[in-house]
Amino acid sequence: MAVTETASDFTYSKMRGIVVFLTAFIKQRKIGLNDFIQKLVSNPQICQHPDVCVFLQIDQNQPDETEAYCNSRTSLDSEEFDLSSSYSVKPSDFDYLRIIGKGSFGKVLLAKHKETEKYFAVKVLQKKNILKKKEQKHIMAERSVLLKNMKHPFLVGLHYSFQTTAKLYFVLDYVNGGELFYHLQREHVFLEPRARFYAAEIASALGYLHALHIVYRDLKPENILLDSQGHIVLTDFGLCKEGVEPNGTTSTFCGTPEYLAPEVLEKQAYDRTVDWWCLGTVLYEMLYGLPPFYSRNTAEMYNNILNKPLQLKPYVSNSAQELLEGLLQKDRVQRLGAKNDFLELKFHSFFSPINWDDLMAKKIAPPFVPTVSGPTDLQHFDPEFTQQPVPTSVASSPEDFLITASAREAAEAFLGFSYVPPVDDTCL
Ligand code: AMP
Repeated sequence: MAVTETASDFTYSKMRGIVVFLTAFIKQRKIGLNDFIQKLVSNPQICQHPDVCVFLQIDQNQPDETEAYCNSRTSLDSEEFDLSSSYSVKPSDFDYLRIIGKGSFGKVLLAKHKETEKYFAVKVLQKKNILKKKEQKHIMAERSVLLKNMKHPFLVGLHYSFQTTAKLYFVLDYVNGGELFYHLQREHVFLEPRARFYAAEIASALGYLHALHIVYRDLKPENILLDSQGHIVLTDFGLCKEGVEPNGTTSTFCGTPEYLAPEVLEKQAYDRTVDWWCLGTVLYEMLYGLPPFYSRNTAEMYNNILNKPLQLKPYVSNSAQELLEGLLQKDRVQRLGAKNDFLELKFHSFFSPINWDDLMAKKIAPPFVPTVSGPTDLQHFDPEFTQQPVPTSVASSPEDFLITASAREAAEAFLGFSYVPPVDDTCL
């Protein structure tokens, strides 16, 4: 009996010794490996080498710090998509050709998928900027809105989203007819049929979002792009509010001063009718050349939005004036769209020349076709962006490989931020 106990004690302490030794050994090797990897990736040229990238991805399925090395593709918390494990999209799958725009958290780049040679707009957001402004909820809302809305003809389509430790990537349809704002600035105003066409396409996209209980909130000319045929594409879902029921309200203050609805300015609760106000401001600007209630003095403009009655000059049709009066009602309960949402606009006399089925099927010929010679023709993008050099860090940067506490925190904040389309997706 005593002998057995001594033997088992001996075995136990021996085992413990081995475990302690092995743990220390593994820890030591891990530190060594970490140092090695950090040295390796501190040289951008080396870390872009395909063999190095492959090496860094060896452990990508393990849920520990190795996740932070290259692109980590965590599973998406949605049943809508078949996540085949053979799919893995990463920043180095693309050649980044030009910067084409900038948003509040990062850049939008024209990129070419190396294998298929297809062009995409890749929105690259810096996690630290998002976390600094505590905006991850907005960004996750953008992702989830994009995921829900891939099928609408006038909403930008998302092909993939993925993250590295430092950045989030959205791979979007590349829309190269330029911003509506860019064309409006060049022409000052649009004739009524042209303004009607754009307003109708925008309204149908907003109606679709509302049917999904999503309020867009940030409609303004910079977020309204034209595709190469001249159709509308709404981008930037960063300010969308999800889960707003037909008569539900929300009260976060955001938006751009010129286009802010009175209830948003007053920090009151608002609902989907906020989008009809914004459509009113965009339609007004298309017809008159400036936003309604505009003043160079911001305080005065705020005051005008809240208190100044809408004044409509007579050189637009009565039906256009009537529509603007309905959309730009300061009291959201009285606003056009408050009761039956998009249906109220659809049947307004201003839109009577529009066949909505044809519009949705893109059978109405756009009133203006942007001249674009091909995907790399960037004439409709602001040279302020396109002439800037593309930073090599977009494809990968040493920062993406450092395993720091803040990187872990960032990764946790964006859990589930990964999207790969179903296997039968033909776009890539
Ligand atoms: P955002 O961060 O979405 O506001 O985008 C900033 C700017 O990048 C926009 O105003 C556009 O000029 C450009 N942009 C955004 N998305 C796309 C896209 N899918 N295709 C082409 N340009 C885009």
